Parts: sequence; structure tokens; C-alpha cells
Amino acid sequence: MHNTVVSKYEEHIAIIGAGISGLTLGISLKQNNIPCVIFEKSPTISEHGAGISISPNGKHILSKLNVLDDLKNVSGNTSETIFFSNLKEITKISSDVLTTSRKSLHDILLNKFISLNGEILFDYELENINLDLKEISFKNGKSLNVGHIASCDGIKSICRSKAIDSSHPKYSGYSVWRSIINQNQSHIGFYLGAGFHIVSYPINNKQISFVAAVKTNNQTKESWMTKGSYSDLQNDIPKKILEKFSSLKESSEIYKWGVFVRPKTKTLFKKNITFFGDAAHPIVPFLGQGGCLALEDADIFSNLYIKNNYNISKTQEEYQFIRLGRINEITKSSLSQGKLNHLKNPLLVFVRNFAMKNTNIIKHMTTKIWGYRPENDIHF
Ligand SMILES: Cc1cc2nc3c(=O)[nH]c(=O)nc-3n(C[C@H](O)[C@H](O)[C@H](O)COP(=O)(O)OP(=O)(O)OC[C@H]3O[C@@H](n4cnc5c(N)ncnc54)[C@H](O)[C@@H]3O)c2cc1C
Repeated sequence: MHNTVVSKYEEHIAIIGAGISGLTLGISLKQNNIPCVIFEKSPTISEHGAGISISPNGKHILSKLNVLDDLKNVSGNTSETIFFSNLKEITKISSDVLTTSRKSLHDILLNKFISLNGEILFDYELENINLDLKEISFKNGKSLNVGHIASCDGIKSICRSKAIDSSHPKYSGYSVWRSIINQNQSHIGFYLGAGFHIVSYPINNKQISFVAAVKTNNQTKESWMTKGSYSDLQNDIPKKILEKFSSLKESSEIYKWGVFVRPKTKTLFKKNITFFGDAAHPIVPFLGQGGCLALEDADIFSNLYIKNNYNISKTQEEYQFIRLGRINEITKSSLSQGKLNHLKNPLLVFVRNFAMKNTNIIKHMTTKIWGYRPENDIHF
């Protein structure tokens, strides 16, 4: 049973979801004294005991939020990425990527938002939206009138399904194992193999994130919480490679995530709602760009809003114009990267490894994605 509609937030941008995009948007708006409030379904910030890598394009936004140095202090310290093909080193490159835990990233973003007197309401799970009345209703029975709705509610966005589409996601054919284990490592390691690849990196000075993507018809649920076991992992990944991560054997915290694909993003707004991060453009994780794109989205939207003198419709149009091309290109490249990483044909594997070792292909790709700076797209 819903109570009467509360109008306290009529002038506010109501941010649904306190993940990477929601907290970043909140900080960016608060830094410019724009009224906003965050509604989060969980009773506290959720972080799922997992790692995340932030490439230079994402680091640039964290630096604009004034949180980059704090995050660096509690993160892994890497400057090199080493690529292996079935345990044989292909090449190594220097890389300016911040590797950390989601908990550290979320804690630092939340603390920053709160230090700016940001308001966040937990246990507010959005249930319904009336786009014409700008009214949002929550499972806890509360209903509110707001100035604008920012959908930052992640890959299974209720906002998106209510406002734009309710199409069912399709299993991509990939599942991803993940765990955090005690291990010392100072580089990012990529292990490419037939039908699988592994990425490992330090998230602080004593733990590493282990992520293994496998091509498999055994569909897993799309969830951070589905547990797997070491014996199942052994069926997917060669023993010799797993031996490099010996503490996995003792870990009871091994999870498996089914990677699903959704229709191509065609729009980033509708009437009084704008979409950010995974709610706007779900992406497979093979280029490690979902979180970085979420950071870029939030930064670009708030800067356009200021540039356009708080005209929301103009901001929405320009936001979509600037973002759609990059988002769709990276989404497509992420899927192709999965295929390239998992090649089985020995001739193609040879050609891939040769190109990685002897050409500028890695640098070319990373420069294009990592070199992006939103300031070049926003003209004041
Ligand atoms: C295995 C894996 C590895 C990845 N690795 C990387 C990486 O290395 N680098 C990278 O940049 N990206 C990576 N990503 C992608 C990245 O995690 C996401 O793109 C990013 O978290 C998206 O941020 P978001 O704010 O859009 O959504 P989320 O971080 O998912 O946040 C959504 C928030 O909304 C809340 N919420 C949901 N529904 C409601 C509701 N109805 N009402 C209120 N609140 C709600 C949730 O509780 C949550 O707090 C990876 C993804 C996966 C699956």
C-alpha cells in the first residue's frame, strides 16, 4: 500500500542506484551544487568481493572527482601487463591501469558523496515510474515527485524495462569465474587459451583478483552471487594454469557469472528519465570497460547540464549524441575480444600471438579506448 506522494525532492535529480554510475553522478552534481538524491535498494553499499580494473579513461574521471589518489593508496600497484598463450609468454607492455577491489572503489565514492553533504537513502528499491508525472514509487511503500530521474540501476535495470524495453537477455555462450585470493603479484596477467582466458591482477598489496572467462554451453545465472567450486573450475581451465593460483584450492569464495547479451542501445533517454552505465548500455566484460564507461557517462551528463544552463532536454539530446557512437563501438569490440582471446585454431592462434608480439596492435586498440577525454567532446 503506497502512502501519499511526497514532494520534497521536486527540484532534485533522483538517482536510482548507488553503483559506480550513480555515485559518480551524485558527486559530480554535488560538486556543482546541483540538487540530487540517491536511492539504493540494498541496506548498504553492495560490492560483491570482486576486483575491478580502471583504465586511463576511467582514472581521468576519478581524478576530476578528486578521489584518484585516495583510491591508489589502497589499490594494487601495477605498471606492466604480461600476455601468455598457454603459459608461454607472448609479450609484455607497460600499462597505466589501476587495479583495485570494488569495495575500495565504492567506499571512496560513497565517502566523497557524503563529504559533499550528499543524501543517500538505503532500502529504497524502485518499483514503478510515472514518466509524465515524474513520480517514482518504491517497494517500501514510499512515492515521490522528483525533478528528473537518472537510471543508474545496473544491468537488470527496472527503469529501463519500465520506460523503454523489457526484452529478454540472451546467454552469450560465455561464463566467468571469479575469486579474490591471497597472493603477491605486481603485474596484470592475461592467460589466453583455447576456449578460455584468465585475467589476474593485484587489488591491494596482499590479494589478487582472479577472473576466468570460458566458452561453454552450460549456462550459468547472471548473478554475482552464484557459487561455484574448485572441482568445477578444474573442468574448465587446464590444471597447469590453475597451479599458478594455488590458494584457489582452499577458497570457499569462488563464483560463476553467466554473461548475457542485450539488444544494441538505441536511446539513452525518454521523457523525464536518462540512462547511465549498465542500465544504459549493458556490455560483456572482455575489455574491462563497463565501469569506465559508467564513469564517463556520469561526468559527461553533469557537465552538459551545467553547460546547457540546467536545460534537461537539451542535455539529454547532446548526451545521447556524444555517447552513443563510443558506447556501441566498445560494446561490439568487447564481444570480438572474447572471440580473439579464445581462439582454438592453431594457425589463427599463431597469427594472433605474432601480431601481439611484433606489431602495435595492442597499443593501437588501447590508445583508442583509453585515450578518450570527455572535454574534447564538450564545447563550452
Ligand atoms: C565479471 C565482471 C568483471 C568486470 N570487470 C570490469 C573491469 O575490470 N573494469 C570495468 O570498468 N568494468 C568491469 N565490469 C563492468 C562493471 O562492473 C559494470 O559495468 C559497472 O559496475 C556498471 O556500473 P553501474 O553503476 O551502471 O551499475 P552497478 O555497479 O551494477 O550498480 C547498480 C546499483 O543499482 C542498485 N539497484 C539495482 N536495482 C535497483 C532498484 N530497483 N532500486 C534501487 N537501486 C537499485 C544496485 O543495488 C547497485 O547498487 C565487469 C563486469 C563483470 C560482470
